[in-house]
Amino acid sequence: MAEWYLDGGGLRRRLLLLARCSEILSQLHGKGLVYTDPSPNNIFISEDVDAREIRLIDADNLHYEKSSSRGFYTPGYGAPELVQGKSGADTLTDAHAFAAIAFQTLSLVHPLMGDMVNEGEPELETQALEGKLPWIDDTEENRNATTQGFPRDIVLSPRLRELCQRCFGAGLKEPKQRPGIAQWTEKLYAAADFTLRCPECQSTYYANQKVCSWCDYPRPTFVQVRIQRWEPLQGSFKEQKPLQANALADSEPLILTKRFVSGRIGIDSHQENIELVLEGETIGVRSLNGKCLWLTSDSAQKEVRERRVSFPVKPGQYNNYILHFGNLDGSHRIATFYLVRGEKA
Ligand SMILES: [Zn+2]
Repeated sequence: MAEWYLDGGGLRRRLLLLARCSEILSQLHGKGLVYTDPSPNNIFISEDVDAREIRLIDADNLHYEKSSSRGFYTPGYGAPELVQGKSGADTLTDAHAFAAIAFQTLSLVHPLMGDMVNEGEPELETQALEGKLPWIDDTEENRNATTQGFPRDIVLSPRLRELCQRCFGAGLKEPKQRPGIAQWTEKLYAAADFTLRCPECQSTYYANQKVCSWCDYPRPTFVQVRIQRWEPLQGSFKEQKPLQANALADSEPLILTKRFVSGRIGIDSHQENIELVLEGETIGVRSLNGKCLWLTSDSAQKEVRERRVSFPVKPGQYNNYILHFGNLDGSHRIATFYLVRGEKA
């Protein structure tokens, strides 16, 4: 199963494709449209594992929210209120279907089909799909737990697990408790951003794991690139909760898109703005879109343009160097850098 998972492009590709898919759904929702029937049969992805294109087909299902009480769905992906015939499709039934697709794509098990359902009477499956049984990873009730699927901590980030609990826990009976699609987009991108490529088996895994999730090879040295907010009036930089965190290792460059620089998700958020590379304990940075960046330290400041500028990175605490995405006298986003040395074999 692991081989099949990795042949399909592995964890990072799955996270990125799901993020793209939720981004498209989120854009539809932003226009007041409901997709109605998200299911694995309606989502087309490019076959090439390096490609990240995604298409939603069956656009004739699209309708304006509240304009229709149509409630059809693909079995396994209908929200409980649709399955029970209590309501038509809306953005929250889309969100349920997407969450089920995301959970299944990442962990290879259906969120509602635990051992109790799989080994019990057929009526139990109906009850599960009507939202009358606990989901398989319910933190409060483990009646329907299962040992099937990949261990959740290697395929779901802590924030994705939180979204799943809200969607399939309280959100099963109360649609309003369900996270909206935009939250999935944000958390899926964040999860993909914090993955590393294993130098041994070339698969991707979460950088919070000390060994590769697929071959147990020790985690290589990497840099946590934290995106934070800079307010010039504060005078000096204060440690704060990062808005986003990325993992940069020497196996591949890290491209910061407009999503990091501006914090926005959407059509133009995929433009490549900045390239970072790691060589030993030195970071190289250059601008990819002609815009000027500023690299500052306690003692100096330097312009960064198309030519690569290098600076050292040290383990542990706040590292002195700050990469500014905007002019120093206005508020903007910055990156700070923390080296995490590799685990010993
Ligand atoms: Zn590996």
